Amino acid sequence: MTGTCEGHECRVREAGGRAAGRTAAGYRLCGACHRRLTLGIRQLPDLYRDCEQVLGGASVKGLRERTSGGPLPGAPFNAAAAEARAAIMGVLGAWSGLVAQERRVAPPQRTIGTLSVFLLRHTDWLAGHPAAAEATREVARLVVKARRVAHPEQVRRIALGACVEPGCDGRLFGTVPVGVPGSHPAVRCDADPLHVWAGHQWTQLRRLIGGVSTANTASTASTAGTAKAADAAPAAAADRWLTATDISRLWNTPVGTVYRLASEQRWRRHHRSGRTYYSEADAHECFSRRAERSRQG
Ligand SMILES: [Zn+2]
Ligand SMILES: [Zn+2]
Repeated sequence: MTGTCEGHECRVREAGGRAAGRTAAGYRLCGACHRRLTLGIRQLPDLYRDCEQVLGGASVKGLRERTSGGPLPGAPFNAAAAEARAAIMGVLGAWSGLVAQERRVAPPQRTIGTLSVFLLRHTDWLAGHPAAAEATREVARLVVKARRVAHPEQVRRIALGACVEPGCDGRLFGTVPVGVPGSHPAVRCDADPLHVWAGHQWTQLRRLIGGVSTANTASTASTAGTAKAADAAPAAAADRWLTATDISRLWNTPVGTVYRLASEQRWRRHHRSGRTYYSEADAHECFSRRAERSRQG
């Protein structure tokens, strides 16, 4: 028997008018939410340690270098790092406690690595537990919170649409390192760490996400992936609105040039919360033409 996924991500999807994933028998989470929960629990010890670095001031120097507005006050920053660490320990500790009690196993030592390893052994069980939805919500929030504290402004995430791998319900994000010389944008899936592509493959990937049929599809795609992407095309295409800064990073072009091109070529745009978003499709068409011209010229 299958049911509707209760996971945090699927709840968010439903709130946005999209369908939640289906669960396999005995589970309350779809495959993607299940994988996200596992991935989150696995990432938290690293994020915990990254927050420690922030507490020690290691990241503050880098932050100053990246910030044009002068040094940032360290104190609020450290408070946020300490708070994120306490929250990670508290949440992993609480779920471990529940598992130990209900499954009648010895509770793990209260160190971050031990708690994470213990919970990973029981994630499958958690995915079928009545509290599975809460677990996905708490872990997802912790990951976002800790990442923000540990890597402020280092990585900008841009929502790009549904994952193109067959059978994957994850979402793709462009991750663009900010102010890190020699680093490159990448496209990652939030449900499976193995679904990752170099930023320059974005042009190929977007064909799959957007369902634009072409004989020359990306090498990473299978036929099933193309079909699935085509089904999801209208929603995914409508989702993609980027700020001028996002576009500048994805296509490695000065922001001023992005504004100029957007104005000259009348890219579709809309305003939300005081920010202007441009149609990713229009930007893509423009930069594809420019790339084509420079190859020919
Ligand atoms: Zn789900
Ligand atoms: Zn994926």
